Amino acid sequence: MASQEIETLTAALSRLPGLGPRSARRAVLWLIKRRETSLVQLVDALGAVREALVECQTCGNIDTTNPCGICADSRRDAGSLCVVEEVADLWALDRARLFNGRYHVLGGRLSALDGVRPEDLTIDRLLRRVEEGGIDEVVLAMNATLEGQTTAHYIAERLEGLAVRITQLAHGLPVGGELDYLDEGTLAQAIRARRPVS
Ligand SMILES: [Zn+2]
Repeated sequence: MASQEIETLTAALSRLPGLGPRSARRAVLWLIKRRETSLVQLVDALGAVREALVECQTCGNIDTTNPCGICADSRRDAGSLCVVEEVADLWALDRARLFNGRYHVLGGRLSALDGVRPEDLTIDRLLRRVEEGGIDEVVLAMNATLEGQTTAHYIAERLEGLAVRITQLAHGLPVGGELDYLDEGTLAQAIRARRPVS
């Protein structure tokens, strides 16, 4: 039986995506063996994240400033807005420098199974941004999953009637493909060949 401290840390780590109890325990042991180096770095990094990071109240990105660096960057095309499910998708697109507009993070996707409804996502905030004007194109960059596409369809309907061009990522995304797992070439192809929502 490990100490309470180790049990607590193991339990906390095992809740991380992709880590089960077994790999969490291995990670804890690995950290304990490197308590003066890797563990210190991890503690510092976690502390810095906790202290410094905030959610951008405009787009939902996570950054050290609100509005975030992307929203505040005047070199970006303010007329183009790319809607993504999660911050990880924003980072994937932005890392690859594929898109020079701004973003909107929904905070998930509609899911009957998980009980995620339109009001659980930032769809109203998105509509307000578009209604405020200055945006010509909304790119729907949902994952190529059933729920992602349902979400894209729903948002396209809500945007109907507003003076904005609605496009979506080109097909050719692998079915079930989640943006942040795609290689940059595939992602670049999907965004370059984006097409109007029919
Ligand atoms: Zn922002």
